[in-house]
Amino acid sequence: MQYQRSSALFKAAQDVIPGGVNSPVRAFKAVGGTPIFVEHAKGAYLYDADNNKLIDYIASWGPMILGHAHEPVIEAVKSRADLGTSFGMPTALETEIAELAISMVPNIDKIRFVNSGTEACMSAVRLARGATQREKIIKFAGCYHGHSDAFLIQAGSGAVTFGSPSSPGVTRGTAKDTLLAPYNNLEAVAQLFKEYPDEIAAIIIEPVAGNMGCIPPLKGFLEGLRALCNQFDSLLIFDEVMTGFRLAKGGAQELLGIKADIVTFGKVLGGGLPVGAFAAKNEIMKHLAPEGPVYQAGTLSGNPLAMAAGLTMLQELNKDQEVFNRLDLKTARLHEGLETVLKDTDIPFQINRLGSMISLHFTEDEVIDFETAASGNNEKFNTYFHGMLNEGIYLPPSAFESYFLNDALSFEDIDFTINAFKKVVKTI
Ligand SMILES: *Cc1c(COP(=O)(O)O)cnc(C)c1O
Repeated sequence: MQYQRSSALFKAAQDVIPGGVNSPVRAFKAVGGTPIFVEHAKGAYLYDADNNKLIDYIASWGPMILGHAHEPVIEAVKSRADLGTSFGMPTALETEIAELAISMVPNIDKIRFVNSGTEACMSAVRLARGATQREKIIKFAGCYHGHSDAFLIQAGSGAVTFGSPSSPGVTRGTAKDTLLAPYNNLEAVAQLFKEYPDEIAAIIIEPVAGNMGCIPPLKGFLEGLRALCNQFDSLLIFDEVMTGFRLAKGGAQELLGIKADIVTFGKVLGGGLPVGAFAAKNEIMKHLAPEGPVYQAGTLSGNPLAMAAGLTMLQELNKDQEVFNRLDLKTARLHEGLETVLKDTDIPFQINRLGSMISLHFTEDEVIDFETAASGNNEKFNTYFHGMLNEGIYLPPSAFESYFLNDALSFEDIDFTINAFKKVVKTI
């Protein structure tokens, strides 16, 4: 495949945008090479600036769960645009999408819409702190909750310790209120509660991690977190920005049968427009302004175009409950295909999957947390990524990302992908 135009566009972008991109992973730093500039997309396919057609396994990092340019969503946005694109005043549309979201998701009474997953998680933590009158939070190494300061904290070599900032610009003062534990390690969390029994406002977690590859929770882990939160009067925040409206109509709460106190959303909820949200029972949401004192606001929050896209997306998912089963079957087919090919080689590998989230790691170790995810062989991953790209298959350009399948993918697309992998695997 040729990438001359993408190359030229990337060069031009680098002159005026830091690194040439508006979100770092797009720059292909982890895998090397030139990022691909997209022209348009339809269904399961991306068409790039050099007229290459690519089968897409990222779906805009999740939102395009029904495929790109899904007709009803596009129509909703177009017809809404004619009525005006922003008012800074309430519209009936916001109540309509709120009612539908609340009917689909277990265990929430009220929902507040924002403009991104970052905003949703940042606001959820403020709400948790306001509601509990406590300051510390626990997060897990390798979990991503957006780029707000409190979350840009990493563990030092898997040790449970005070977090140190993982980005310049995050202050030590902020870092000291974020406690860290390894994913799937209940003992480490229990230890933190023992140390700070009255100080922890909330645990925030991706109930199925999707930002260090796909890492499902081990049996009993989320149940254990729920029990600890109950015991120490802390709140459990499920960051369902990725899993919400993807793993099931009601997200991970529904699929895994665990109740969170606050849930955050984004990605699928916006149907491809910038939307996030956080939701909880009345007794927690009543603390939020203007009902309560915890401040949160947004000029473009509840934007009519974004709400129209999101509402139509939720309506589509709500009326076709088979969609989640189909996605599961398609992803299972990919899983089996990759596994069958790899079993014929001596390449060490792990495949993690839950529903339509899947990742392939070139390591012998079971991948259950950040440390084991990081044990993957990056050289092998990069060869795999570029090999597949050359066959017209667009995978996440980093070993630390999950794939997100979309329902426009056909079984033929997946078989094509597996056949391409048979060629590529010989080069790994
Ligand atoms: C993508 C993501 C976010 C951040 O959402 P943005 O819309 O990129 O700000 C937060 N949490 C999780 C789990 C995510 O996957």
